[in-house]
Amino acid sequence: MSDHRLENATPRVLRNAAVVLPDRMLLADLVIRGPMVESLAPAGKGKGTEIYDLEGKRVTPGLIDAHIHGGWGVDFYRDEAETIAATGEKFLASGVTSVLLTLHPGPPDELLGRVQNAAAACELSPVFAGIHLEGPFVATDRKGALPEEGIVPYDPVYLKQLIDAARGKLRMMTFAPEALPSSALAQMRSLGIGMSIGHTSCDLAATEDAIRAGARRCTHLCNAMPPIHHRDPGPIVGLLLDHRVRVELICDGQHVDDQMIELALRLKGNDGVIAVSDAMPLAGMGTAAGTFCGQEVQSDGARATLADGTLAGSVTFLPEALRRTARALDLTPSRMVSLGSTAAARDLGLPRTGQIGSGCRADLAIWDGDQAVGTLRGGLGTLPPAWRLG
Ligand SMILES: [Zn+2]
Ligand SMILES: [Zn+2]
Repeated sequence: MSDHRLENATPRVLRNAAVVLPDRMLLADLVIRGPMVESLAPAGKGKGTEIYDLEGKRVTPGLIDAHIHGGWGVDFYRDEAETIAATGEKFLASGVTSVLLTLHPGPPDELLGRVQNAAAACELSPVFAGIHLEGPFVATDRKGALPEEGIVPYDPVYLKQLIDAARGKLRMMTFAPEALPSSALAQMRSLGIGMSIGHTSCDLAATEDAIRAGARRCTHLCNAMPPIHHRDPGPIVGLLLDHRVRVELICDGQHVDDQMIELALRLKGNDGVIAVSDAMPLAGMGTAAGTFCGQEVQSDGARATLADGTLAGSVTFLPEALRRTARALDLTPSRMVSLGSTAAARDLGLPRTGQIGSGCRADLAIWDGDQAVGTLRGGLGTLPPAWRLG
């Protein structure tokens, strides 16, 4: 092993780090032992066997993308587990330390196999924190780009097969309240599977019923659901007003107006909004064409659309989406971190993750301007040897 791998339990120090804390930035030394941040020491005072001088570079918790279908030409639905797992290194290089591997629905026999494959990818790369099934019990009239042949009426046998196929890796399911009985919702909750309202035509009352039955999350708020009407407020109002619910927002500048993100942030507070990419396989590929959800998709590098103009996921990865949103809404680094890491970590129940402090996991991203220049996950990762002191 090369000497700049951070791989054992002797303390390592990230010196002169501009650490983004929940309420401020602090110039400090981050002392890392094993997979954890042991302490924040005054700048220049941290003690350890390996010291890396960051010279004031910004350090944030690793970003967490809780809704992503692929990228760099890799399709989490179509490609094999090894290919999917190999993207883990690309996420790390971009400052993203955890992702929720998201699968669109497909023909039932096929989807069961893809869920098994996704579970295998999660076992191969720890960057994949689990599986998010976007469907199959959603509303056909709000399918967006989801393939219609995968959307099916509620079937408890099929649901159990999906849960079994995931081998404990199913962390989240998007459902339409009108397509799933509340008894099924309660059963999923009892298994520790988060239930996320989305791809729905339900009204306010059905939204409130689903929240009462245990739904605590919304999949891409505003997209694939009825807009707000003053006499028929619909799901958006119910999801925004109930503080038990966290909402995803696709922050690529294409799916929702930035002022809708501002509105959600003001109503829900920092902890209630999760920025997601909803990125699809053409993300990171520039101008490109391909298939996604079994349909032809074109991307101009900013938008990916089906032939009829429907947005087909985004082509903007989370770090870029966050930078764009922070610029548009003048967000502080702390708010950007809550949007891109802390809220998702809490939502997914990732312990001691999504913030920096003594006893937190050393899932850290180091930034030079907009660029991730070093990432640690559980204290492990390659840092530029040039930073090493002594
Ligand atoms: Zn969707
Ligand atoms: Zn999606």
